[in-house]
Amino acid sequence: MKKYDAIVVGAGVSGLLTALALSKSDGGKDVLILEKEDHIGGVCRSYNVDGYTVDTGPHVITQLKDGPLKKLMARYFDVLPVFKPHGKYYVKINGLTREFPWTVADWLQFNVLPLRDRILLIQALFSAFSASVVSPKKIADVSVYDYVKNYDLAESTLNFINTIAYFLTGAPMHDVSVFRIFGWSDTKNMQKKVTNVINFLFREGATDQAYPVGGIESIVDSITRSFPEGRVDIKKNAEVKRILIENGLVKGVSDGKNEYYSDVVIYSGFVSELPKMLGNDVPPEYANKLNNVTNILSLTVWLGLKKKYFKNVGSEIMIGDLDSVGAWAVPVTNYDQGLAPPGRQLVGFGFIVDSTDVESVKKRAMEFIYRHWPSIENDIEMVHYQVLVPEKSVNQINQVVPSHRTPIQGLYLAGTDTSKKSMGVTRASYSVVECLKTLEEDRVIQLDAPM
Ligand SMILES: Cc1cc2nc3c(=O)[nH]c(=O)nc-3n(C[C@H](O)[C@H](O)[C@H](O)COP(=O)(O)OP(=O)(O)OC[C@H]3O[C@@H](n4cnc5c(N)ncnc54)[C@H](O)[C@@H]3O)c2cc1C
Repeated sequence: MKKYDAIVVGAGVSGLLTALALSKSDGGKDVLILEKEDHIGGVCRSYNVDGYTVDTGPHVITQLKDGPLKKLMARYFDVLPVFKPHGKYYVKINGLTREFPWTVADWLQFNVLPLRDRILLIQALFSAFSASVVSPKKIADVSVYDYVKNYDLAESTLNFINTIAYFLTGAPMHDVSVFRIFGWSDTKNMQKKVTNVINFLFREGATDQAYPVGGIESIVDSITRSFPEGRVDIKKNAEVKRILIENGLVKGVSDGKNEYYSDVVIYSGFVSELPKMLGNDVPPEYANKLNNVTNILSLTVWLGLKKKYFKNVGSEIMIGDLDSVGAWAVPVTNYDQGLAPPGRQLVGFGFIVDSTDVESVKKRAMEFIYRHWPSIENDIEMVHYQVLVPEKSVNQINQVVPSHRTPIQGLYLAGTDTSKKSMGVTRASYSVVECLKTLEEDRVIQLDAPM
């Protein structure tokens, strides 16, 4: 059987981006991608339901000005996705809709929360900034909740903070680091800290975010259409069950029926599932570390609406209450009307699943939507639910993030559970950039220019 230059396990956006970069490195590597499903894209996919094109969860792509996806697109894409600017973030709280307060000036006018709380939170932000400079270690593992619990904040303010914590990280305010919420996850980078504070004082945030026209799968289409001819083979319905190892070196993979050979394997599935593919070939401490990576489930409710309820260009964060953690609504037809039949609106509502009883979460989600949009019930013509894992690891305090290099020579990791930076497709792209740098350090590839 053919020996490939590299095998990539998983055809999600991380695996596909890695394969694209390899296929265009050093004059072109021959890459095999093995995907367990009968389709590619992982949780970056779009499909048809009753004439509506739904994505695997509501998606907005971040850091498109100078983030990792932008870098990868500039370097490797022949076909670029078409992005429409995301617009503004709106917050719906106690029946009132406001623009998200990015700056101190916005925050002072954000009159849906008590003024006292807003002033205290501005104070908390500056105190977190000075602590991050003076004693970063002390504060790095402090949760948002622990940081603000002594301020005696109103319930509505705590609900707001908790919903934003879930929205940014997938974890509640009790488990999210203060650094993460203020965007200071890289605690050593002084310039970044200063920029964040300047942004908070003066600049509207999230202006480099967008929705891809045609649906989220258009990003995957652009990647596969950029593969150089004859360089990348994709095999679907091929679940890798075993990584083949000889004397501590990777030799290939097996899906139980066939073996595929290469001295370089990049695994982009859940790292928590890797130990069972490695058996006794890795130290137990390494296997335990991977087993401890945790994730969360999300519920998306897609509604096809007979009329336009969401008029603004942008998306809406609906603040939760004690019974629920809130939701995020993205009216995707405001970016691309082609995703729905004429005159219809398609909206994705994303919720965190906080219980094992998914049916009860669905019921509560619909009640939550009706509470925030009382008349919407009469105009629904399509409902579609999705229960998916939005991030392969939650960005919370003490979360384990394995490095791209493994104890097995030739076996590398990519995917959202191998990077701490950002979220979603941006986090997946960071993981690919970091993995490529590791491959270069190990002389597996030579990059034309530094990443
Ligand atoms: C509800 C929801 C909302 C989201 N919102 C946003 C957003 O607003 N913005 C944003 O940027 N991102 C968002 N994301 C996240 C984004 O889609 C993901 O972070 C990204 O697509 C993950 O890519 P990945 O390749 O790392 O993982 P995956 O997409 O999980 O891909 C992994 C692939 O590996 C395959 N695989 C696993 N194990 C094996 C095996 N043993 N053998 C063969 N194949 C295997 C899987 O089938 C899968 O295809 C959202 C996701 C969801 C679900």
